[in-house]
Amino acid sequence: MKKVGFIGWRGMVGSVLMERMKEESDFTLMESYFFSTSQTGALAPKTPNSHDKLLSALDPRELMKMDVLVSCQGGEYTQEIYPQLKKEGWPGIWIDAASTLRMKDESVIVLDPVNRSHIREALTSGGKTFVGGNCTVSLLLIALHGLFRENLVEWVSSMTYQAASGAGAKNMLELLDQMKAVGSTFDQHPALGALELEARMTSLMNGPSFPKENFGHPLALNLLPWIDSELPSGQSKEEWKAQVEANKILRSKTTIPIDGTCVRVGALRCHSQGLTIKLKKSAHLSSVEEIIQSANSWVQFVPNTKADSLAKLTPAAVSGKLHVPIGRVRPMTLGDQYFNAFTIGDQLLWGAAEPLRCVLRMVLEE
Ligand code: NAP
Repeated sequence: MKKVGFIGWRGMVGSVLMERMKEESDFTLMESYFFSTSQTGALAPKTPNSHDKLLSALDPRELMKMDVLVSCQGGEYTQEIYPQLKKEGWPGIWIDAASTLRMKDESVIVLDPVNRSHIREALTSGGKTFVGGNCTVSLLLIALHGLFRENLVEWVSSMTYQAASGAGAKNMLELLDQMKAVGSTFDQHPALGALELEARMTSLMNGPSFPKENFGHPLALNLLPWIDSELPSGQSKEEWKAQVEANKILRSKTTIPIDGTCVRVGALRCHSQGLTIKLKKSAHLSSVEEIIQSANSWVQFVPNTKADSLAKLTPAAVSGKLHVPIGRVRPMTLGDQYFNAFTIGDQLLWGAAEPLRCVLRMVLEE
């Protein structure tokens, strides 16, 4: 049995990965070892064939005993540890949720429903570095897989609505703290009129006592039109990832432009995207629908009705689910090659943990 080490297993992505691996009995296929940057020596989670104590995630000697390392710890950790292991000649397979290594030549960005054959090819030819894609990119590609596969897409503009948990466990907890502050202020002044309450809430969220250490700004009752760092192009880094990562996953011969504005909203889980798609030629709505819904097992086509959209295209409906719904598909008044769409997916499942789980399973079954 291969020895597999897990780093970052208690974070948002790591916890979801652990749940999914238990559901699919993946742990029976390996000896599992759990690492931590903060709790070395404490009891490790219990899984079949697991080592009982947490090992140090900062000790290369322990890490190098593993055949496979799966990191959901974050980019800074990868930046520090991965080069050390490579320098020491560690021959194992590195599977990662962080963006650090995605665009390196040695890495394959993994998205099983879209590029399973590429992953298989890389494993067969000795590839060692497999990285999950950006969450909105992976969800976009699962939703529009059919249109890309038929080479129909000239460009896509994606306007995102990204949940708080996309920024990690601490940020999601901060959104709930912000909501608690809002709720308790409301409880103190239940008799105020709507406009007076709005003024109090606006003053509360802009005041010094509102909890915002992690986001730096209020997210409850608000939205944040910038995610990740600034780039000279004027894009945020999150916006830049869409085109470069999608084209790397698709192995496009010529770059398909994908761009838009990424926005953090007060949803707890699930990233949504409003899409404008320019096709290379005009197409009937019925054939666009057929191509989208037949592409893979996970995309779910939602009819463009008010009832279906409000029931099936929301974080409330999709959180914790593996399917990736796409709806609001209709021709736009911009011209007959333009289609509108709205897609949503659980960014912790197909947006993060599930592609890692699939590649690990392929490694274990090799
Ligand atoms: P996270 O929730 O912040 O967890 C990362 C680490 O933070 C944990 O492993 C843990 O390390 C530590 N930690 C500190 N306080 C914690 C708390 N209260 N609860 C849980 N863990 C806590 O990060 P993440 O969102 O899972 O992201 C991990 C990587 O995946 C990042 O590179 C991120 O960019 C990428 N990613 C995230 C998402 C997403 O939707 N969140 C989607 C795609 C990719 P120790 O146990 O060592 O202390």
